[in-house]
Amino acid sequence: MLRRAFLGAMGASFISTVSFADEQNPDIWLREDQKIPFLSVVQKLDQVEHIVGYAKFNLISFDETIKIAKNYAKIEPFTQAELAYIEEVFYEDPSKYGFYGKRTCFQLSEIINEKEVVKVPHSGHYLYRGHSQESFEHILKDVGNSIILTSGIRGIVKQLSLHLDKVKSENGNITLATRSLVPPGYSYHTIGDFDVGKKGWGHENFTASFARTNEFWSLQKLPYISMRYTLGNQDGVRFEPWHVKIV
Ligand SMILES: [Zn+2]
Repeated sequence: MLRRAFLGAMGASFISTVSFADEQNPDIWLREDQKIPFLSVVQKLDQVEHIVGYAKFNLISFDETIKIAKNYAKIEPFTQAELAYIEEVFYEDPSKYGFYGKRTCFQLSEIINEKEVVKVPHSGHYLYRGHSQESFEHILKDVGNSIILTSGIRGIVKQLSLHLDKVKSENGNITLATRSLVPPGYSYHTIGDFDVGKKGWGHENFTASFARTNEFWSLQKLPYISMRYTLGNQDGVRFEPWHVKIV
């Protein structure tokens, strides 16, 4: 696509991101009965992240999370209501929120084998050895060291935490949250995709503005990667120029 046409289309996308609701998928909000377990799960996941650290929290399994909550005096163990709520989030069909992507992970208790991952220096993130790691190293060589890894592997618990944090920041609007931070079990980060950004850009890296950087345009020229969530993608996810498709 010509750059001008592409940027024009991006302008249109800013307008359409005001609300994702359409006739088939009116916005769905947290139910009354979900609000109490929702808030306590968000809080407990934050506490577990505080204990294991930002980087390790990317890899932690559901069973380990439960164990930590049980064994540390500062955290209350997860209650039956909280566990039931987490299961509901993991197993429900997100197409009711207008998200049509594939499930990438089928077990809530899925474990990431730490022998299969490598920590990327100064990023606080991990990549799978092999294809993901090699692709990122190629990108560094081809685009230059102004490109950074902003999010790598996310286990089920990390994705759950990001998804619920987004529901919270969208004031309980699950439809809106799901179109930008998909529910656990549906993220390609769990199986090899990763996000890149421009050094020093902070949160701007996760906005459509990233598509205006030289780094983005250099990425477009690389034959060995592509963009997972293009404008108007069939999965129903927002435009994510920073998300590199590996799988
Ligand atoms: Zn991503």
